[in-house]
Amino acid sequence: MNEPTVEAIRRVLNEIRHPDDGKSVIERGMVSGIVVKGKNVGFALEVPAADAQRLEKLRRACEDAVRAMEGVSSCTVVLTAERGPPPDLQSKPAAQAPARPEVPGIKAIIAVASGKGGVGKSTTAINLACGLRALGLKTGILDADIYGPSLPRMAGLSGRPTTADGKKMQPLEVAGVKVMSMGFLVEEETPMIWRGPMVQSALTQMLNDVAWGELDVLVVDMPPGTGDAQLTMAQKVPLAGAVIVSTPQDIALLDARKAINMFRRVDVPIMGIVENMSYFACPNCGHRTEIFAHGGAKACADTYNVDFLAEIPLDIAIRETSDGGQPIVVSRPDTTQAAAYMDLARTIRDKLRGPSAAKPFPKIVYA
Ligand code: ADP
Repeated sequence: MNEPTVEAIRRVLNEIRHPDDGKSVIERGMVSGIVVKGKNVGFALEVPAADAQRLEKLRRACEDAVRAMEGVSSCTVVLTAERGPPPDLQSKPAAQAPARPEVPGIKAIIAVASGKGGVGKSTTAINLACGLRALGLKTGILDADIYGPSLPRMAGLSGRPTTADGKKMQPLEVAGVKVMSMGFLVEEETPMIWRGPMVQSALTQMLNDVAWGELDVLVVDMPPGTGDAQLTMAQKVPLAGAVIVSTPQDIALLDARKAINMFRRVDVPIMGIVENMSYFACPNCGHRTEIFAHGGAKACADTYNVDFLAEIPLDIAIRETSDGGQPIVVSRPDTTQAAAYMDLARTIRDKLRGPSAAKPFPKIVYA
């Protein structure tokens, strides 16, 4: 069967009317960025930031209408707004963070986050997820790094999610870990321009509209940084805790501190810090060279009263396996590098089992 055309989709959407004035969403110029990939369709619906909640019904109506088209098996519509995120996020003290609804079937959701990109967050997330699976936990990983979804490549997955009932997408799988990523739905080259509410809506759908089944733990690979989109996510997703990944340089640690503060602001316990590219172990002679001032993350953890979880070496095998779609925990489980990730996985498993997911922390008050 042929792929649905953008024109055909626009024709269907031309029948969906805005509740305020009865004009169609096409007439009002609300639809943008229609992407068709096989039987999967995605696009954005532009709405004023303040109306995002009120127009959820309209979003669903668009989604349902397109999903009902011949040749379409899934449709993802995200709300986007011209102006940034909900206005009051910045000034809310932690105590007023909204309740986060649980996701049925998922026992715990943990975020892997970093203050900036390129520090090895995704590499850590996929190896942690595979490690948790190797320990016997039913595990999933959600690539929320929608600006540059790298998990399809790192997990060596290139297929598209299918849907059995036309409603929920089946996640893909690597080494027993269920994987979902925006990267499965859009072409790798497609530039994705996301604004606050759109990000939130995409993430909520990837959490709720995916057939995760029963999971002990879902690892969320967060978008890097501490902007509004990240804050909104940290606030909306029912997180049991956050793992912060940083390289040892001062500049990266400065960003890691921002990430710690961001999660604290929204009452998400910090499970600890991972120092990635911590040192260089020479593959020939085994000599350990501390290329960056090693130990910065440990000092940062002490200052912020959070746990120091692991130091992962800067290592060619980690880079090759990660970029080659063969996470080292799975492809070379007998190496010391894989052992470092397994230790991390054990620590996280124990923290999830424990009475509290992380050390208590002092409340930070924002003026
Ligand atoms: P982020 O998610 O923070 O942007 P990635 O996990 O995508 O970072 O990693 C960025 C690059 O660094 C990738 O090419 C990855 O293979 C590499 N990398 C990550 N961690 C290590 C490590 N410990 N040793 C060597 N290369 C690494």
